[in-house]
This record gives sequence, C-alpha cells and structure tokens, in this order.
Amino acid sequence: MSSKPLVPAVEGWHTMTAKPHLIGTQCKGCGTYFFPKQSDYCRNPDCESTEFDEVELSRTGHIWSYTNACYKPPAPFVAHEPFVPYAIAAVQLETEQMVILGQVIGGLTVDELKVGMPMELVLEPLHETDNDIKVTWKWQPLAQ
Ligand SMILES: [Zn+2]
Repeated sequence: MSSKPLVPAVEGWHTMTAKPHLIGTQCKGCGTYFFPKQSDYCRNPDCESTEFDEVELSRTGHIWSYTNACYKPPAPFVAHEPFVPYAIAAVQLETEQMVILGQVIGGLTVDELKVGMPMELVLEPLHETDNDIKVTWKWQPLAQ
C-alpha cells in the first residue's frame, strides 16, 4: 500500500474514522432519517418541516436483502477497472431501521450472504489517483 492519503470517493457521505459511520440527516419535525442527506424539505408527506439535524447513522445492521451486481454502477460510484462483479447488500440499520444499499467487501460472494446476517460498515479503497486513494463504504459481516 502506498503512503497516499485516504479520501472519501464522495465527500460528506461518511466519516473517515476507524469505525466509520454514514452521515445522514434527521428531520426535526417528524424524526425521519435520510441518507443521502436531505436538507431542503421532508419527504414524509405528513410533515412540513424544513429543518434537519446532521447525524451519524448506526454502523451496524442486518441484511434485509442482497444481490449480485454484474454491471458497472452509475456515477457517483467509481467502478473498479477492469470491472468484476460484486455483491450488494441492503442492510437495515440497527437504530434507524432504514435500509442502506452498499457493496459488500471484496472477496465475499452472494453465496456467503444470508438474510438477517449482522453486518458492519467499513471503508475500502476504491481506486487510486495521482494524489490520493479514494475510499467508499462497504458492508462486512460483523465480527462475532
Ligand atoms: Zn419530517
């Protein structure tokens, strides 16, 4: 591994800490959580609030569903070149109970995933530029 700094592939979507969290918002009116951040109006049709708190979402949850991705993801995601299929997990967060889609860490296939499996959020390098290494969040089975 080189000594280039690690930077987020998409600025502001997660913390860069050893135990990373996704950064979302919570509506001050109804308490609904949003990821990616929602900050202009609340998508809850019964709520008219336009005020949001920025919050760190829980970094653990359980697999709600999963699939195999055999196509390159659209921007802002940057796909590994050459493209190799990877597994995607929809994980229901422990506290917020919202479902967050994310790639599963490299080397893990759908055959190793199960609905209900406990997962945690980690950061993994996505690609290297001349100046830095871009990282993004991925789901990894929670160490028991
Ligand atoms: Zn609301």
